[in-house]
Amino acid sequence: MLPMPFLELDTAELAAAFDDWGLPRYRAGQIKRWIFARKTPLFEQMTDLPKSVRTLLTEKFGSILQCKEISRKQSDDSSQKLLLELADRERIECVLLRDDRQHRTACISTQVGCAMKCVFCASGMDGFVRNLTKGEILEQLLRLNQLLPETERLTHIVVMGIGEPTLNLDTLLSALEIITSPEGLDLSVRRVTISTVGIPEGIRKLADAVQQTGKGYKLAVSLHAPNDELRTKIIPQNRFTGIESILQAADEYFGKTGRRVTFEYTLIDGVNDRPEHVRQLAALLRHRTAIVNLIPLNPIPEPNDQSNHYRAPSEQMVRQFAEQLQQSGIQVKIRFRKGDKIAAACGQLRRSRH
Ligand code: SAH
Repeated sequence: MLPMPFLELDTAELAAAFDDWGLPRYRAGQIKRWIFARKTPLFEQMTDLPKSVRTLLTEKFGSILQCKEISRKQSDDSSQKLLLELADRERIECVLLRDDRQHRTACISTQVGCAMKCVFCASGMDGFVRNLTKGEILEQLLRLNQLLPETERLTHIVVMGIGEPTLNLDTLLSALEIITSPEGLDLSVRRVTISTVGIPEGIRKLADAVQQTGKGYKLAVSLHAPNDELRTKIIPQNRFTGIESILQAADEYFGKTGRRVTFEYTLIDGVNDRPEHVRQLAALLRHRTAIVNLIPLNPIPEPNDQSNHYRAPSEQMVRQFAEQLQQSGIQVKIRFRKGDKIAAACGQLRRSRH
């Protein structure tokens, strides 16, 4: 029988397995602290466990980390990107981002490939393959945490890697549950942001989960255009939803969780950065408790006919857009570009590369 992957099991399953093997249940907590807090991915190195227990665990579970690191790229802005190969040889990427505010942020993927096919994003270019498992999501976090010096831990998580998180929500939430728990990385849920292309049912489901568990994750919605015609052109998925129903679901998220929603807006020169777009965007958001996160377009690795013409606006245009929005009473942030030297910035992660 193949060993079962440790990171896939939930607390009850783990307890049952330990009962079977005659191991006291407190060992599970002890092991989790080794794995998460002490960054030790090998049972053999868990020195306060009896040798016989370490051997038994290795026999039963094999190794804690199940993926293979194919490459590790370091950029000069101190971002690091990992390309991981999963047990079925599919590949995903994840990124560690560091900034001068002492934030150490993990950007993680939730799917192999992506079905959304936003025209400016590399993640969907090779189509959708499958959802990631809980263990695969946790492993990205463990590996990124391990890249940090011994005394440091991840401070933030952004679910902004490959895939649409609301289409793999239950699995994502169970991984986040573990990572935010005291036995995990003990990370505050307020420091976890889930970014969605804008699927109203998914947003509602997340709002309900937050309400039930009290875990108030931050929600970011990829708006990117202030009218349906333009939005459908760059985010094909919009055809099925439309902006209005997305905004309503975001309102419900705020209503149920009290957490202000961020609207991401990737600025594309001449496409969605004109004065009329500022006006339309302001009209949509003026009466909402929201914040707009402007992202100057990052270069697209292999553009198609449409996206081939897409460029980021000049810095001056980006500032102008921000100022005009602010003048309409909307709160605005500009997202600093990170990791673009190693194709690890927003929209540049994809399934298979070296
Ligand atoms: N599937 C999620 C997470 C995607 S990545 C979502 O759609 O929200 C996080 C953000 O980067 C999204 O807002 C996404 O639209 C944006 N993005 C994608 N490609 C980009 C690019 N080339 N330049 C800038 N932002 C991009």
